[in-house]
Amino acid sequence: MRPVVIVSACLLGQPVRYDGGDKSNTLVRKLLAERFDIFPLCPEAEAGLGIPRPPVQLVRNGEGMIEVLGVEQELDVTGALRDFSHRSIAQLVGRIDGAVLKSRSPSCGIGTTPLFDQERNQVAIDSGVFAQTLLVHMPRLPVIDEEQFSDETLRDAFLRSVEKQFATRDHIV
Ligand code: SF4
Repeated sequence: MRPVVIVSACLLGQPVRYDGGDKSNTLVRKLLAERFDIFPLCPEAEAGLGIPRPPVQLVRNGEGMIEVLGVEQELDVTGALRDFSHRSIAQLVGRIDGAVLKSRSPSCGIGTTPLFDQERNQVAIDSGVFAQTLLVHMPRLPVIDEEQFSDETLRDAFLRSVEKQFATRDHIV
């Protein structure tokens, strides 16, 4: 058995982005495959939003709640993304040792995703819906994005944390 790491599927070269493209990252693919079992995951595709699909962004509504709305057309995928995130993460608890997620995504971003107001002015940065749910439900899980992963110091610390997580978790088979 090896540690298991979930990875944003677009970083692995899977054509799951809103425009049908990918964000293949050779460093992520190569270094993770050498040491870990990889579990690809695309929250937006798996939530049923389709490929291709209209682009979405995080928007703070009048009550201060964050929604995931269409960039160019009227569309609200907040419920679909939240439901998928809760369902999938409930199944992942105790089975994974780390996560490598795509930066700036309204689903996968870890504190790097633009947050807009109702007039669609950027007002802050936040985490995407899947990433936020993961951080809440698995607060000790080592998590990194592909930009941090390109930094050798951050990457080595992440890889060590994944090994440690694997060594200490109760393994569910
Ligand atoms: Fe899918 Fe996340 Fe990549 Fe967007 S960033 S395409 S939701 S895996």
